[in-house]
Amino acid sequence: MSKPNIVVLGTGMAGWGAAHRLHAEGIAPVMYDKNSHYGGHTASFRFDTGFLFDLGPHISFTKDPRIQALLADNVDQQFETIQINLNNYWRGYWPQHPVQLHLRGLPDELIVKVISDFVEERNAPERPIKNYADWLLASFGRTFAESFPMQYTRKYHLTPAENLSTDWLGPRIYRPSLEEVLRGAISEAAPQVHYITHFRYPKNGGFKAYLEKFVPLGNLKLDHELISVDPRTRQLTFSNGFTTNYDSLVSSVPLPDLISMIQGAPSDVVEAAKLLACSTVVLVNVGIDRSEISNAHMTYFYDEDYTFTRLSFPHMLSPTNTPPGAGSIQAEVYFSEKYKPLTCSPDDLIEPVIRDLKRCGLIREEDKVLFKKAMKLRYANVIFDLDRAAALKKVHAYLDDLGIAYCGRYGDWGYMWTDESFISGEKAADRALAVHSQAAR
Ligand SMILES: Cc1cc2nc3c(=O)[nH]c(=O)nc-3n(C[C@H](O)[C@H](O)[C@H](O)COP(=O)(O)OP(=O)(O)OC[C@H]3O[C@@H](n4cnc5c(N)ncnc54)[C@H](O)[C@@H]3O)c2cc1C
Repeated sequence: MSKPNIVVLGTGMAGWGAAHRLHAEGIAPVMYDKNSHYGGHTASFRFDTGFLFDLGPHISFTKDPRIQALLADNVDQQFETIQINLNNYWRGYWPQHPVQLHLRGLPDELIVKVISDFVEERNAPERPIKNYADWLLASFGRTFAESFPMQYTRKYHLTPAENLSTDWLGPRIYRPSLEEVLRGAISEAAPQVHYITHFRYPKNGGFKAYLEKFVPLGNLKLDHELISVDPRTRQLTFSNGFTTNYDSLVSSVPLPDLISMIQGAPSDVVEAAKLLACSTVVLVNVGIDRSEISNAHMTYFYDEDYTFTRLSFPHMLSPTNTPPGAGSIQAEVYFSEKYKPLTCSPDDLIEPVIRDLKRCGLIREEDKVLFKKAMKLRYANVIFDLDRAAALKKVHAYLDDLGIAYCGRYGDWGYMWTDESFISGEKAADRALAVHSQAAR
């Protein structure tokens, strides 16, 4: 039997997962991407000033030994293994992460209130958990929930916790015992409970170095933006006028975009896809002439008068990410078409970010800013609002009917890390192979 013509849309982690799986079957898929570079969200850019920035802070913390080995081989074992250090910024205080285990050093009045609410909540009768706000109140008590995670939610998910479900939580937010809260309030020692303890990062070339050896797995067609899918004739049309056919389709294109391109998609599916919410992030990258900026690899910012929600420091992942002696900061500023549209140019955020970096003391007046650049990621984090589950079910059922194998963060429409997106691509390739062999019978 001749090899099926399986087309892969997207060259991010999910696209490469699909190509990797198809390669094992002796198939080199054609892979289309709208960008002029491959890698999707795992791309890295080195600028002529010598500063390298990933498209959002990317570190590999997969616990899957197969993926660990695959990525390690892809960089010829040239990676760093780093113990993670995370902290938080809240009204001038810098507690370690997670704050619920590190109350020590915060204002006495706040600590007393947090602990008394926490105890009160433990003794309260159980209430039904209808949304993330209910979960936070039941897990931490009112003072902590309102001072920390509810504020962070408004900055990161762009909608109140009352409008979020809880099916994305997994191990992401730690629910401490009373003893752990008390210990963290009186001593600096706290158990290591974060779901990431160590991470790996390539020694050279940024996160994208993990992908370089994948390139021969596919026949790459960059600068090909898909604009139309005709599922009846199995034809794809691109914005440059190119058209092509497929036997089976694997797509990591974000669902709202994909559905809007499918000829003849029913209106209820089109409406459901419009309900799927995602954040947009503007990454403000700053390089300065000093590398001792922070001890933490990432810092979460709760205060709503700070432009950014999270900071990371690329020079701490690999010294090759900056010129010698320099330091770098990547600030994440979040928006959402559905909840908080971006109304200015990404460049307009550069100066407010630098102002806030000075305000919290990370950049000093005497520091020289050597590099500044804003980059926008239209799709960042899927927002698990209360519309998501039903809308997603409808959209996925429609794509299943068409035999289109969706995958990745924006195809599965979940809170997925790079390893999960890769595996999702592998599974989608299996589904595409099955669709083809069914049709051939
Ligand atoms: C800010 C941020 C930080 C993150 N940090 C981490 C981390 O530290 N560790 C970790 O493991 N994960 C992290 N993630 C998650 C990780 O980025 C994703 O799981 C993964 O990169 C998603 O891969 P993907 O292939 O599914 O999507 P993408 O990488 O988005 O790939 C989709 C591809 O489809 C292409 N495409 C879209 N539309 C079209 C079209 N019309 N025509 C042609 N091509 C199209 C895009 O150009 C893109 O290349 C982070 C995500 C974000 C947003």
